Amino acid sequence: MTNIALEKIVPSEILAYNELFAKTEGIHLLTIGAPDFDVPDFIKEAGKKAIDDGFNGYSSSKGMPVLIDAFVHFLKRRYDLSYDTSHIIVTTGESQGLAAVLQALISPGDAVIIPTPAFPQYELCTLINHGEVVTVDTSHTQFILTPEALRQAKINHPNAKVVILNYPSNPTGVTYSPEDLKTFAKTADELDLIVISDEIYSELVYDQKHDSIARYLPHRTILLNGASKTYAMTGWRIGFIACPPDLFTPIFKAHQSSTPVGSQFAHIAAATAFNDGDAVIAMMKQAYQERRDFIVKELSNMGFDVASPDGAFYVFPRIPQHLNMDDKTFARELAVHGKVGVIPGSVFGKGGENYIRISYATSMDILKESMERIRLFITNKQNTQ
Ligand code: PMP
Repeated sequence: MTNIALEKIVPSEILAYNELFAKTEGIHLLTIGAPDFDVPDFIKEAGKKAIDDGFNGYSSSKGMPVLIDAFVHFLKRRYDLSYDTSHIIVTTGESQGLAAVLQALISPGDAVIIPTPAFPQYELCTLINHGEVVTVDTSHTQFILTPEALRQAKINHPNAKVVILNYPSNPTGVTYSPEDLKTFAKTADELDLIVISDEIYSELVYDQKHDSIARYLPHRTILLNGASKTYAMTGWRIGFIACPPDLFTPIFKAHQSSTPVGSQFAHIAAATAFNDGDAVIAMMKQAYQERRDFIVKELSNMGFDVASPDGAFYVFPRIPQHLNMDDKTFARELAVHGKVGVIPGSVFGKGGENYIRISYATSMDILKESMERIRLFITNKQNTQ
């Protein structure tokens, strides 16, 4: 017999929609959260050199020291965070870090508070450890989990041990201001909650500077980040866990149960990225920002209500009510008749119902054509109503 928790879990719906829509000929897929940029040359060169120099084996279990050093300096330089190298673990992409952290924290029956809409992996990793998922719909509070809502969730679920924040967010692009983070930290502390802070999009924040809750709640925050989005290094599988000293050992044990070692040459290349990559980040960020500005304007003109997307490379518009379509029907019909693939918002939980996620990690030409196609699709729908 298999793990009973699997009965509550469905395979990734994002990937399923992507595969389904890819079958439509001539479709523009705005479905997947992967940068369209290639890995910058100086990072590739560092990887090639490491291979030629013979760094082709297993890394140490915590990760190559050169990468841990680079990451500690990066956190200090970019976010004024002070971590000791002994409290960092390099993981096989941030996804493995998330899995290890929830495995380390959750005993059967413990609850995890997840503001929705959210990256579906949070629910999956909670359920597989026999944890209880407590979702909070944030669609009425600009996709921000307010301290009041957090408090209410803890009152209703005293077994809640952990809350997961992701900012800027996949799927909404919304982020938390320093003020939001300060009050949230205070409340989480009072409620005796551990915060898992998923900051994988931290370098893609457009109108403000990214701040981390780890600055206000260092003893209770487990910070997750990685190289996938920042340096377009999705395939190199580099992630990090930065944890409070007392949580290091349990998390390290959980890390060792799944993917206990990494790849030496990938770690060396990622060290180069985190040390010397500030300029390439700026270049990619500017391109994403131009695309964001363009599609927010286009979608607003078409009658979509779009929550202010401060970062990442997603927008999360609400489907105009007069079209009378739920998000799954809208996405399916848009794919077939409009030839644009988007992800239905409800895939990200209750807070995403009646929205769609559009990824703008694709070229401006494709985005321009996609906006025209969506406009035409909506006009045709209105005319046939
Ligand atoms: N967190 C969020 C919010 C994400 O969107 C993703 C990637 N889609 C990840 C974590 C995982 O990234 P990776 O495993 O590639 O580091």
